[in-house]
Amino acid sequence: MEQNFGFIGLGAMGRPMARNIRIHMPKQSVLWVYDVHQETCENFCKDVENYGQIQIATSAKQVAENALTICSIVPASQHVREVYLDTATGVAGAKQAAHPIDEARLYLECSTIDMQTAKSVGDSLEAMGMGTYIDCPVSGGVPAAEKGTLSMLIGASNPLLENEKHEKSKRLENLLSWMGDPSKFYYCGWLGAGLAAKICNNYLSCTILLANAEAMATGVKLGLDRKLLHQVIANSTGQNFMCDNVCPVPGVVAHAPSSNDYKLGFKAQMLSKDVGLGVDAARSVGIKPSIGEAAIAVFDMVGKDERCIDRDASVVYRFLGGPE
Ligand code: NAD
Repeated sequence: MEQNFGFIGLGAMGRPMARNIRIHMPKQSVLWVYDVHQETCENFCKDVENYGQIQIATSAKQVAENALTICSIVPASQHVREVYLDTATGVAGAKQAAHPIDEARLYLECSTIDMQTAKSVGDSLEAMGMGTYIDCPVSGGVPAAEKGTLSMLIGASNPLLENEKHEKSKRLENLLSWMGDPSKFYYCGWLGAGLAAKICNNYLSCTILLANAEAMATGVKLGLDRKLLHQVIANSTGQNFMCDNVCPVPGVVAHAPSSNDYKLGFKAQMLSKDVGLGVDAARSVGIKPSIGEAAIAVFDMVGKDERCIDRDASVVYRFLGGPE
């Protein structure tokens, strides 16, 4: 059990992240996986069974009963609370009375959620003697998850600097390096700080996505050639990562979701959640999030539009009426 790993949440991001863990972890160790959709677990197992042993768990609790090192990535805060704190089905239910093994547990929680939830879940697990919980939201999307080159925003201080020989630190480093690019590991300092950084980044990336869609829908409707407009922006002051890589106009950037019928990606329904986290965080420190507030008014409608649901967030261009 000590050598086993667990993974909870096998969605767009979780599948490739778990796959990379299975590829890199010791062959003789077992990867325990759990997702609320049984079929998702079965498909995942078929995909990676050649790399080593995998077991499908019936709950997050069963994952924790069989693995000491656990990674999770689920949609939102309520799912994280359920995965960790539900005493019937969650990680907390795996607690054994005064068992030293519980303290050795390590949880890397990668969902984009609010900092308060991360703090309360981490503090609760610690108080129960259930080990170390680290918020570790990721950036780079599905392509980086597949390549194993994610940025990892770690809600802890660099454990290797603090205590090079700590066994838990080694496990953390291994887990991170199997999923991410070490040149993009950011030790943000404290429980919740990884999320603070992620929330600020996504406030930008999501609102910039909307600005790109509005600007490009306008330009194409004015009669500009879409590729020419993209080139102009790419080489002018409007240049930005989202336009370069997630251009919302179909047929401009071959690898962008828009050129593949807005294939996921980052679900359109998640835009409001991510910008909402930024808006709440800004208000909590007295910053007025005017751009975020305006973006949410649009994203709330995008998330309910049949043409956009379960498609990549850049489908906001379609919602605006951009020519496809
Ligand atoms: P997704 O909806 O594709 O996957 C989530 C998975 O979690 C699903 O398979 C779902 O069945 C499972 N799940 C839900 N509740 C669960 C529970 N209680 N126990 C176990 N499994 C449960 O979402 P995603 O795109 O993979 O995103 C997951 C998280 O990662 C979100 O917080 C998102 O904001 C963040 N994120 C996404 C991206 C992206 O590009 N998609 C990039 C960075 C971060």
